[in-house]
Amino acid sequence: MKKQGLGTLCVHAGYEPAKGESRQMPIIQSTTFKYETSDQMGRLFDLEDSGYFYTRLQNPTNDRVAARIAALEGGVAAMLTSSGQAANFFAVFNICPAGCHLITTSEIYGGTYNLFGTTLPKLGIEVTFVDQYASEEEIQAAFRPNTRAVFGETLTNPGVRVLDIEKLARIAHRNGVPLIVDNTFPTPIYCRPFEFGADIVTHSTTKYMDGHGTGVGGCIVDSGNFDWEAHADKFPGLCTPDPSYHGLTYTKKFGKLAYITKATSQLMRDLGSIQSPQNAFYLNLGLQTLHLRVKRANESARKVAQMLNAHPDVKWILFPELENDPDHALQLKYLPEGSCGVMALGLKGGREFAMRFMDALRLVTIETHVADCYSCILHPASHTHRQLTDQQLAEAGIDPDLMRLSIGLEDPEDIINDLQQALEKARQ
Ligand SMILES: *Cc1c(COP(=O)(O)O)cnc(C)c1O
Repeated sequence: MKKQGLGTLCVHAGYEPAKGESRQMPIIQSTTFKYETSDQMGRLFDLEDSGYFYTRLQNPTNDRVAARIAALEGGVAAMLTSSGQAANFFAVFNICPAGCHLITTSEIYGGTYNLFGTTLPKLGIEVTFVDQYASEEEIQAAFRPNTRAVFGETLTNPGVRVLDIEKLARIAHRNGVPLIVDNTFPTPIYCRPFEFGADIVTHSTTKYMDGHGTGVGGCIVDSGNFDWEAHADKFPGLCTPDPSYHGLTYTKKFGKLAYITKATSQLMRDLGSIQSPQNAFYLNLGLQTLHLRVKRANESARKVAQMLNAHPDVKWILFPELENDPDHALQLKYLPEGSCGVMALGLKGGREFAMRFMDALRLVTIETHVADCYSCILHPASHTHRQLTDQQLAEAGIDPDLMRLSIGLEDPEDIINDLQQALEKARQ
């Protein structure tokens, strides 16, 4: 059959009911699975047979939803995790254990920044933050003999900056390590990082994929393209026998599925951050309309961004589809059909003005969330980082003016009217 379009994959990939089976993907709300002989069960624990035995490792609902996301990204395998944080942690830890080194861009989501900057070092993993706009030579200088991966976000949260995926993939591959890309904001509808050389993609499915503010979740997708065996000395966890499975070697036994199989059978087994089948079911409902929702959010965001770009109270705005955005050329290359529904902006008039503006909003709500059906706004200086002075904010790399505005699925005219009336009220 001809390669199917993204909309068709959103609705169908990963689940095809047989005669008389449920049309909608069922929730297999079960912790365990039954077998007939002791030998059957034993073979599962030896990874000799594939099958379900305990939902902490694998569940049919989760696997079908993961397969749908893998199809959308063009990957060979995927796993769901309990959150986006768990996805990024597992994606790195699967190949970068204690004693190893990770290179990450510094303009990343705050939660990931804390995970990499504070928690990974406590686990014995060294981390270097690099400027994603630095030259290849400068980024090259961050590599060490124990570097095991490079990490970045396709579109950064909250700055909505565009990652030069090909540049980072080139540098990573030259050094024999994979590039991991968090593709949460554009979703595979607008960008499929594997097409530009990324090796592993992660998601906070909590955002557009779920899209209705119902369930926290994450996903890791493997392209199957990285040749672990060619760099076996760097990745002994994948390329040498695992004593916790009677000495099987993941790359030899599972080929292109080695990375996800190891993450499932080792990390999920031991750390247990599985997504509940019920949440996977909600995530699936979100995926079935993903192609429609992200396009609508993006079209509305474009209208809002144009209005704000020309508004006298707006000091600056970052939305890569604007022609005056510093990343517009990167957007045209990596996200030619659209970026996302999120933008960052600073208002003239400082914190006081920003607070009056937010308090005057009626439709757009103040929330610590982004990228779902509700338009919402967050001002880190007054909310998540309110204990910091402007000086401390600057040291933490957060512009005290920065507001993150996420456009939902309401009528764009209503969103624009709300923003305009609130700016007017704030001025009084
Ligand atoms: C929200 C977010 C995360 C963390 O995801 P959770 O589901 O909240 O754990 C990671 N990366 C990006 C880009 C995000 O926006």
